[in-house]
Amino acid sequence: MNIILLGPPGAGKGTQARHLVETRNMVQLSTGDMLREAKSSGTEMGNMVAGVMARGELVTDEIVIGLIREKLTGDTKGGFIFDGFPRTLEQADALTRLMADEGQTLDAVIEMRVDDEALVDRITARSTCAGCGEVYNDNTKPIPADGKCTSCGKENEFTRRSDDNEESLKTRLMAYYKQTSPLIGYYYAKGMLSTVNGLGEIAAVQREIANVLGD
Ligand code: AMP
Repeated sequence: MNIILLGPPGAGKGTQARHLVETRNMVQLSTGDMLREAKSSGTEMGNMVAGVMARGELVTDEIVIGLIREKLTGDTKGGFIFDGFPRTLEQADALTRLMADEGQTLDAVIEMRVDDEALVDRITARSTCAGCGEVYNDNTKPIPADGKCTSCGKENEFTRRSDDNEESLKTRLMAYYKQTSPLIGYYYAKGMLSTVNGLGEIAAVQREIANVLGD
């Protein structure tokens, strides 16, 4: 089963994707993670996109489509979770074509709906285990007092994303409404869209998503 998690920054796409990887053996394809990796390993492409990402704007379609194209071959395990991709209509069309070329289909698009106020609160309080990627929140899920990650059990560094600040978040939200939210209508018209309440507790959202996936 191949699915898209669609939603604004801070909606919980990454958190839910990690759960689906664990429980359904799916493969998470996060273009944000791929771009951050390119940036930190200092590749030419990584250096090129660093400024755009810091400002919270979208990287070109050509770059992200290229990243996804590379990942669609090989072992697909329990299916792909597209996390943070597609973000424009052009990317959505490209994904349809790429999947068809691989003899694959897209089975569901899950929109995670969260209001803006909650997004600002979540993003400015967010940190991540540098070892395993587990996401923490200063208010609702603080880093354990013993400094050991609840997911991997290690005493890793807990990092904050450099674009998780109010200024860049404003641009990221605007990019979502202008460039990405038209995908809601696009997939609705194809009869593929389901919407879950992203404001609920993590476990409640997990259950809503499991329902959509027919578990
Ligand atoms: P994310 O981790 O999904 O919040 O992405 C972080 C940043 O990477 C975004 O603010 C964009 O600058 C860039 N990015 C990630 N995915 C895409 C995409 N599909 N299209 C364009 N830019 C992207």
